[in-house]
Parts: sequence; C-alpha cells; structure tokens
Amino acid sequence: MALWWAEHAWLGGARTDRGVLLDVKDDRIASVTTGTGVAPRGANRLPGLTLPGLANAHSHAFHRALRGRTHERSGSFWSWRELMYSVASRVEPDGYLRLARAVYAEMALAGFTAVGEFHYLHHGPGGVPYDDPNEMGLALVEAAASAGIRLTLLDALYLRGGFERPLEGPQLRFGDRDAAGWADRVSRLDDTDRVRIGAAIHSIRAVAPADAVEAAKWASSAGRPLHAHVSEQRDEHDGCVAFHGRTPLAALDEAGALSSDFTAVHGNHFSPEDVFLLASTGGGCCACPTTERDLGDGIGPFRALHSAGVALSVGTDSHAQIDGFEEARAIEMDARSAGETRGVFAPFALGEAATVGGMTALGWDAGSLAPGRLADFVNIRMDSVRTAGVDPGLVAAAILAASAADVVTVVVGGKPIVADGKHLFVDEVERELADSIRSLIQ
Ligand SMILES: [Zn+2]
Repeated sequence: MALWWAEHAWLGGARTDRGVLLDVKDDRIASVTTGTGVAPRGANRLPGLTLPGLANAHSHAFHRALRGRTHERSGSFWSWRELMYSVASRVEPDGYLRLARAVYAEMALAGFTAVGEFHYLHHGPGGVPYDDPNEMGLALVEAAASAGIRLTLLDALYLRGGFERPLEGPQLRFGDRDAAGWADRVSRLDDTDRVRIGAAIHSIRAVAPADAVEAAKWASSAGRPLHAHVSEQRDEHDGCVAFHGRTPLAALDEAGALSSDFTAVHGNHFSPEDVFLLASTGGGCCACPTTERDLGDGIGPFRALHSAGVALSVGTDSHAQIDGFEEARAIEMDARSAGETRGVFAPFALGEAATVGGMTALGWDAGSLAPGRLADFVNIRMDSVRTAGVDPGLVAAAILAASAADVVTVVVGGKPIVADGKHLFVDEVERELADSIRSLIQ
C-alpha cells in the first residue's frame, strides 16, 4: 500500500482537482480522494500537476538514430526512407537493445509509461533468421524492462516491397517466409506483467490483402491489438486505389482487419468514406503529427474522426521529437492552421488521446486516475519557465503549455521510474543515446 498526494490532478474533463490522494495497492489505484487539504503523513508528494501516464501508441525505436540527420537536402518521405534503410541494415541485436533502452528511457523521461513498438526489423542481414527468430523482438522486450516502461510489441507482417515488388536489400530483414511463418514466430512470444504481444500489418503496400486476412485472423483469434500504417502518404493512398481499386482502409476492412481492437496509424489521406468506415467498425486512429509534419505527410482529418466517434491516440513514430504534450497539442495546432480557426478540439480530448486513447489501443487497463486502473501517472512542474503562471486548475496547462522537460516524476504500476527529472534505472540517458547512435551511423 502506498499513498501519493497530488497538489493538482486531472481526473477527467476540462478542470483538474486540488489535493488528490491516490491510494495504490500492488500495481493498481485502489482509491482516489479529492479535496484533501494537505498531504497525509507518509504520503509521497507530487507538487504541480499530475496526469495519467502518457501512452506512446506508435514507435519505431531505431528511427531515433535519424533525428536531425535528414534535413540537409530537400526530400520526401521516400528519400528519408533511404537513410532509415541504411540504419536498418546495420542494426544487430546488441545494438538494438542498447539503442532501444536509451530511447525508451527518453520516453520515460517525457512521461510515457507505455509504448507500442511497431516492430518490423526481425531478422539478420539478408533476411537470415537469428538462432531464435524472435531475437530482435526480445531485445525490445529487454530494453523496455530495463527502462521500466510497459511495452506492447506490435510485431509487423511485412512481405513485399511494393504493390508488385518483392522485398529487396534492407527490406529482406523485415520479412517472414509467409503469413503463416509470421504467425508461427509471433505465437512463440508471451505476455508478462509489463509486456503485451500484439500484431501489425505493416501497410497494404507491404502486405497483400490475402496475407492481411491471415494476420487479422491470428490477431482476432488470439485477442491481440492489431495496428497498421494506413494512408500516411498521398502516393501510398492513391497507389492502393489504383492497384486494388479501393482505399487502404477499405482493403484492410475487406481482409477482416477492422474491429474495436484495430488501430489505423496516420490516416492522413482518409476519404470521408474511410472516416465513416473506421467509426462504424469501432477502430481507433493513432495520429503522429510531429512525424507527419517532419516528413511532409499531410494533415489527417482528426477532427472528423473524433466527431464520428473514433478514439484517437498519439505516437512519436520516427522520434523526430519525443514529447507527448507536443504530440497532443500538434493535433490541435495543425487543425487550426489548416482550418483557419481556433478551438478545434477541447484540451481534455487531446489529453484523452495522449493517455486513455493510447493505453486502450495498446491493450492496457490504464490511462485514467480511477480506482481499479493500473497505477501509472506522470507529474509535471508548474514552476518552470514554460509553466509558471499557467493555471494548474485546467488540463490545458499540460496540453497547451507544458513540454517533456517539465516532467518530474513518472510512476509505472505504483513504482517510480523517474524522480526529480532523472531516470532511476538508466544512467546518463544522453550518453547512451549518443553512443548507441554513433555505432549505427557511418
Ligand atoms: Zn510508423
């Protein structure tokens, strides 16, 4: 039993509560009491503003190596992808573990308590499996455990290099023999207290509809979350319409992929029919706006999706930056610029995307400060140069003013992993990032 006393805490809605006492038993919140004037004796104090732990619903850990390195020449998603492939061709399990541990520690420092790793870097150079064909996935499991955050390993089926192209070069590492081989490999991975195994269809570009059927069947029979990149790039969306005669989302629907366990990642070029389709099947949508703007992907119809009842989540995806507050804020800011209007989303809806929306998409019973939920929370300071003078009585204080640099304390399952803004298990996260990236970039 442990008591945590929050000066201000967000329990839902536009406003926050003062003097909130969280009683934590084992790894869950046992009770929540509001309006307590002072911290009881023995309680852990959380000054400032406390929120549920943030969920990073879409990550490719090794893309962190590209940050700041792809801006010298004008380019596109596709030229960015060339450098990504050159890094992908060099990563081995030891280096993957080291880089991912540092990246997950960076996420923890930013207030994320769970990450959905969309994992497609499976095999050795040339596509030759390691002795354990899940060695790369297990490196990610170990990385998350050592950084202290929850991991949903979304193991991605990836079988072709384009609508009519086989895998080639670095892509050979991403593939499996076929969809049955993928399912057989993924079935050997197990859940633990802090790990969920999920499935992914890399994209309809990389997986033919007939193979997507197999992945969808495996995910639904095993009760696993299923994610897919959908309509990130206009070329990809239009190419699918030209080749398959339907949008990527419609092709995934025909393959049986859409359900309340499905998350469409991106959706930047969704048609109005796609928005309706996703809503009617109960699927969610993961926006990755800091990556989408970095890559020039376009701005998704997130307001229309939200209005239609689609649960939104956020992901830092390529890790151009790792800041859940900025990710949530960017959904609103992009919509403002595109629509020439303010107040497109209520701040609490953005907060829900960054917390409960992502946790649900990743299969975790977390994301709100409520009895029975997993005891994951993040505490931000309200006396930094960014947050001083901002009203902590509004959740907008976090969503529209704070940044990852304001995170002080992060608790996962009732246990702190960040205290005083320092990671408790990974020393010198900066050095770990620099050293692990140096070994991959030549
Ligand atoms: Zn992605």
